[in-house]
Amino acid sequence: MTATGDFKVTLLGTGVPIPSHDRFGPATLIEAGDQKLLIDAGRGASIRLNQLRVPMGRIDALLLTHYHSDHTSGIPDVWLTGWLQSHFGTRTKPFRVIGPIGAKVLMENLERAYALDIKIRIADEKLPPEGVAVEVEEFDRDGVVYERNGVRVIAFEVDHGDVIKPAYGYRIEYAGRAAVISGDTRYNANVIKYGTGADLLVHEVAAARPELMQEAYIQRIVAHHVTPSEAGRVFAQAKPKLAAFTHFVMLASEHISAPSLDDVLAETRQTYDGPLQFGEDLMAFEIGDTVAVRRHKR
Ligand SMILES: [Zn+2]
Ligand SMILES: [Zn+2]
Repeated sequence: MTATGDFKVTLLGTGVPIPSHDRFGPATLIEAGDQKLLIDAGRGASIRLNQLRVPMGRIDALLLTHYHSDHTSGIPDVWLTGWLQSHFGTRTKPFRVIGPIGAKVLMENLERAYALDIKIRIADEKLPPEGVAVEVEEFDRDGVVYERNGVRVIAFEVDHGDVIKPAYGYRIEYAGRAAVISGDTRYNANVIKYGTGADLLVHEVAAARPELMQEAYIQRIVAHHVTPSEAGRVFAQAKPKLAAFTHFVMLASEHISAPSLDDVLAETRQTYDGPLQFGEDLMAFEIGDTVAVRRHKR
């Protein structure tokens, strides 16, 4: 049995590389039992965690989907600011990172880049060296990548384009319920396989107005993602209790505006007529007998 609020997914950032003030970089907080997991750490993940009063040091593990910078640029902030003694930091145990091949190189080089800060704070602020240590685990195939206190995380490969590899999504299981995060992907059968029967399926989406779709560079971007009607096909087959969109790749040019969310909704409805929620930053999904949607009070 899950108590109310015992299993919760919060979208910290629903944006993309666009430096938007209302859609921060990709990051999702999973709270299940006593575990707190962060999936990706895009721009501003630390700010969103602080808005939720979740100390960065309280994150049990960071799970990475792939290595596009919009998904990783917040890592040094969560890692290093999370080490500070203040209430928003407080990490005294190693920073645990789990990701596909590439996580070790990324974290080793961040440790090198910030070596002087680390040395200074140990000497000056007497911060515990264990709290800034990094523990990285890499994987190279579908399977369980995290299991603790009743929480199980399964990584599954997705298709973000021929050269954007590795790229993975995650299925989080707790107390007989499941939340699935697509990661960045084009239409992919593995998302349907792992998303089938999920309580919550959070999927990325990309769209451009038909006039803009004529442009080769726009076609290239859209080919790395799903269109709303393709996402609808995924939802229609996986049949989650609730489907939700995040990672809004809403393309525009100087003369052609981005499609509206109503446009995205209309296109999704061509292929899917089930429960659907448009994500926004700090929107939370409480997973129980039903999936309740909570907007953050600002
Ligand atoms: Zn992305
Ligand atoms: Zn990407």
